[in-house]
Amino acid sequence: MYQTFIGLEVHIHLLTKTKVFCGCRSAFGDEPNTNICPVCMGYPGVMPALNIEAMRMGCLVARALNCRIPEKTWFERKQYFYPDMTKNYQISQFASPLGQEGWVNIEGGGISRKVRIRECHLEEDAGKMIHTGAVSLLDYNRAGVSLLEIVTDPDMESGEEAELFVQQLRRTVRYLGVCDGNMEEGSLRADANVSINIPGKGLGKKVEIKNLNSSRFIKLGLNYEIKRQAAMLDAGKTIIQETRLWNENRDETAPMRTKENAQDYRYFPEPDLPVFAPDAEFLRSVEAGLVELPLPRATRLKAEYGLNDEQSGLICDEKAVADYYESTVSAACELGLEQKDAAVRIANRLLSDIKHILSRDKIDPANIGAIKLTPRRLAELTALIARGNTSNKNAKQTLEVVFSEDKDPAVIVKERGWEQINDPAVISAAVKDVWDVEAETVAAVRAAIEAGNQKKLKSLTAYLVGKTLERTGGRAAPEIAGQQIDALLYGGRS
Ligand code: ADP
Ligand code: ZN
Ligand code: MG
Repeated sequence: MYQTFIGLEVHIHLLTKTKVFCGCRSAFGDEPNTNICPVCMGYPGVMPALNIEAMRMGCLVARALNCRIPEKTWFERKQYFYPDMTKNYQISQFASPLGQEGWVNIEGGGISRKVRIRECHLEEDAGKMIHTGAVSLLDYNRAGVSLLEIVTDPDMESGEEAELFVQQLRRTVRYLGVCDGNMEEGSLRADANVSINIPGKGLGKKVEIKNLNSSRFIKLGLNYEIKRQAAMLDAGKTIIQETRLWNENRDETAPMRTKENAQDYRYFPEPDLPVFAPDAEFLRSVEAGLVELPLPRATRLKAEYGLNDEQSGLICDEKAVADYYESTVSAACELGLEQKDAAVRIANRLLSDIKHILSRDKIDPANIGAIKLTPRRLAELTALIARGNTSNKNAKQTLEVVFSEDKDPAVIVKERGWEQINDPAVISAAVKDVWDVEAETVAAVRAAIEAGNQKKLKSLTAYLVGKTLERTGGRAAPEIAGQQIDALLYGGRS
């Protein structure tokens, strides 16, 4: 067995309105080469100016990852040539990045690990090259877009851990509102570094895997690579330090290039940008942006509301959903419901019927705050059920009507005559009718009781309950109807 070391370099696009060193619009999917200017095109003699919002968002991520923000942070030029970068250098950070020496705990699916964060640094993205058969096209809209790179120490040991790290980071930056986390559009991209070695011998020869545009590919790519390297060492071969590409069609990595060393880039301080020394006010604005993160929030929801792991995890996956959930619970408490009971009812409803409606109607859970079923309305519906004012079945229909007619649940239930009948006298009258009409079934049930035929007994009793509900237009409380039917059948014996 070998020891495995995995370190990730994750790039995220910050949601700044404009690019990091010029005033061009920062957006995905615009007409190619429309959001460009002499600065992001790197014309000679142009002057970059730092977008302070990018610095604030970068520092916010750094703080959420428990990094230290240094007293002074600055930018360097990283020199290299590539057609998607007209300046022939990228403005990045090297000697004193904006976030340093942090850590984060990743938890879930049987994994619990502390991962050290080496640094977070702010840089500009390059343009995009699109290769189409004989020609390559260049779109510079992305050139100069604010990019934050998060670099971990090689603390992870499996593809699963790396996948979890990226999923958790994605959730975190979405909670902070600094990145949409869209891996398909490239708003969050990860390169994975992996080496294996004989236990106790330290790090091995590192291989970097690129082209991992989903967290699943990160897992698959790393696990493939760990196996490949182990087979090489087993066969007495040496691993070469290189960059490999993940081929998602063949489920394997393939060599791309041998890696340059850091000094190849000939970093030197960017002369056109001043050193940034965050003042107290800037640091306060960063701290003000820190929200409760998904993991601690899920833990709190479990303790406060009695949710299980799965429920709290699903609810906290999206901040808007967690906010919606908590608003609903507090609205239900205002309506006089007991908190834990309401909390569990609401969680169940949210993760079943409401989740179903959202996905059916293609409503992004991030927009749950804008649906017609407001927290107040869901709380009202929960109260109607909890107090036996409407049946579970009618509650489901009521939900649909809230979405289609934009009305309060209590109004709908009243209008449609969906109030539940709890009056024993009314229900008992219906049961008596059923007894007369269904005399044959009643006889059959009694025979089943005599014969001890549980299966038959169950299905026939359910039939009688169904008939009773039918006679009341589906409004009789099923539990009460069931109790009354049992009482008649067993004559008080059970
Ligand atoms: P480079 O100079 O090639 O960019 P760095 O030392 O900056 O390499 O590290 C880049 C990433 O690779 C980091 O996430 C780091 O944790 C990881 N890493 C570095 N060395 C190893 C190794 N031997 N095995 C696995 N991961 C490594
Ligand atoms: Zn520009
Ligand atoms: Mg490096």
